[in-house]
Amino acid sequence: MPPGGRLGPGYLTDEEKKNRPKVTKELLLRIFSYMKPYWKQFLLVLTAILFSAIMTLLPSVLTGKIIDEGLIARSMNALIKYILLSFGVTLAANLIGILESYMNTWIAQHITYDMRNTMYRHLQKMSQRFFTTNNQGDIITRMTSDISGVQQIITNTLTSIISNAITLIVALVVMFRENWILALIGVVIVPLFAIPTRTAGKTRWSITKESQACSDEINGILNETMSVSGQLLVKLFGMEEKEFSRYQAVNKKMIDLNIRESMAGRWFRMALNTFTNIGPMLIYLVGGLLMMKFDHSITVGQITVLVALLGKMYGPVNQLLNIQVDWIRSMAMFTRIFEYYDMPVEIENAPDAVAPDHADGEVEFRNVDFSYDPERKILKNISFRLDKGKCIAIVGPSGSGKSTLINLIPRMYDVINGTVLFDGVDVRKLDLSFLRENIGIVSQETYLFNGTIRDNLLYAKPEATEEELINACKQANIYEFIEKQETGLDTLVGNRGLKLSGGEKQRISIARILLKDPALMIFDEATSALDSISEQKIQDAIEPLIQSRTSILIAHRLSTILAADEILVIKDGEIVEKGTHSSLIDLGGVYTQLYETQFSKAAPGREEKFDYTEGEDTI
Ligand code: ATP
Repeated sequence: MPPGGRLGPGYLTDEEKKNRPKVTKELLLRIFSYMKPYWKQFLLVLTAILFSAIMTLLPSVLTGKIIDEGLIARSMNALIKYILLSFGVTLAANLIGILESYMNTWIAQHITYDMRNTMYRHLQKMSQRFFTTNNQGDIITRMTSDISGVQQIITNTLTSIISNAITLIVALVVMFRENWILALIGVVIVPLFAIPTRTAGKTRWSITKESQACSDEINGILNETMSVSGQLLVKLFGMEEKEFSRYQAVNKKMIDLNIRESMAGRWFRMALNTFTNIGPMLIYLVGGLLMMKFDHSITVGQITVLVALLGKMYGPVNQLLNIQVDWIRSMAMFTRIFEYYDMPVEIENAPDAVAPDHADGEVEFRNVDFSYDPERKILKNISFRLDKGKCIAIVGPSGSGKSTLINLIPRMYDVINGTVLFDGVDVRKLDLSFLRENIGIVSQETYLFNGTIRDNLLYAKPEATEEELINACKQANIYEFIEKQETGLDTLVGNRGLKLSGGEKQRISIARILLKDPALMIFDEATSALDSISEQKIQDAIEPLIQSRTSILIAHRLSTILAADEILVIKDGEIVEKGTHSSLIDLGGVYTQLYETQFSKAAPGREEKFDYTEGEDTI
């Protein structure tokens, strides 16, 4: 692996230094547990590394033989023999190297595969809270970069430690066997050159970091002042000169840093390179001295072998010095991955969960309290009952807790106090798949997968026939639109359904729910502006739907509200009023207020929406 490796630069960032992972026995054992299934392959890799390390050093030893037994002894036979041997050994070392990297990659890919699957499975079980609280980018980084990092650790860090250590040990053993005095000189010299090389690299790294920060600053300025609204702001306030000098200053700083960066450690390295040559020279000098004055048994070949082996030691020593950084980084990566693995699954099946074979979709809330965080209660003491075949409309100002309330039924979240019952059973005691299979939600924000309309519909019922698909689309008032498309049901909806209008998307999602045919239907009516034709089409689709099944509507339009059997008025997380439209009007409370401010403006025959929010964006 090149110094620093593919894990990143060979020096830790300040942040990495601050957040050094705690390497415990448990952590190591846990990492080991992922490698354990592949121990046989690991053994093979280890053997291959051992052989290739020894074989890479052999040509250096053979050089000594070529000189002593071939050249100096003037033996053509020996010369050819050792040259061929050296060639054969190099070839064998390379072939073993190929096997080693294949096995290595194979193991690393398999471990990555296992870890990715474990992560995906775990994330699938995480609750809505996890996905709303965690940054989506973070989740993806864990899945992709961090786990890919694991692969590099195995292919690079691990093998690098082993092969460098073996090379070093073998080289030292051979050197000491050839001549211990010269070997000792080598041992002193190598670290002397390897350590300062690292120091020089560090200086360069700190400048690189500075220039990265500077480049971020430049990007920031460009983003701020060259965006559509940014440039407008600069112009309107006449700040062109000020912004230009700000830009010019950072630009200057950047070029200074770039020049420093490219020159950093240049002198040092030049001196170092010159001095590195001193190593072999020193061995030649001491070796020559020994050979000529003291120990006539030392041969030219031996001295050459020592010089050659010395050269082979710089690389491994340098890399082993860098390993610490890779090691810390790898441990941090594993720690981050395990942190995700260890996140408790908030909502899971109770051990004694039941799955009845039939559902009516009846819902009951008994004194339910709920909050996302302990400081603020979102729902307070909610109690109501929805019987089979009936329809409840929930109305209330924006942010009053309507969506939160319905999310408790399919257990997207669990209640803090009280109970939510589905068909008379606490939802926490029901099998999650049963519960969710029997609830259909058409939410305000319709989510369609990138694919065709057909793909999205089949998601609800993979075995649906063409006729069923068409029927559902007809009922959802979207068939007319589909028929107009050249490719019909096979029309691509684009990423997240972006190629369709909001109204079309919502009607497709109604068709999708119709195919699912759940016992309980929940419809979160869109507050977002839809044109009146789209609105009417959605209205026409849902009205017959709610007539025939148990349903809950978060309603914003009078016609939807009127279609319900009962209306719940929610304000600040509490049910403040309950009843039919006329009884609530008679009451003259919150509902009447909402009705008067919102509906009374409606033209006869067409009602206004409950339009609680939405201000206009200004610069
Ligand atoms: P709207 O009609 O605008 O959709 P709503 O009545 O459905 O509003 P909810 O979405 O249930 O209201 O939100 C109720 C309150 O809970 C709001 O104050 C909101 O800020 C808060 N809230 C909603 N979702 C979360 C969440 N995931 N984490 C923390 N707070 C949340």
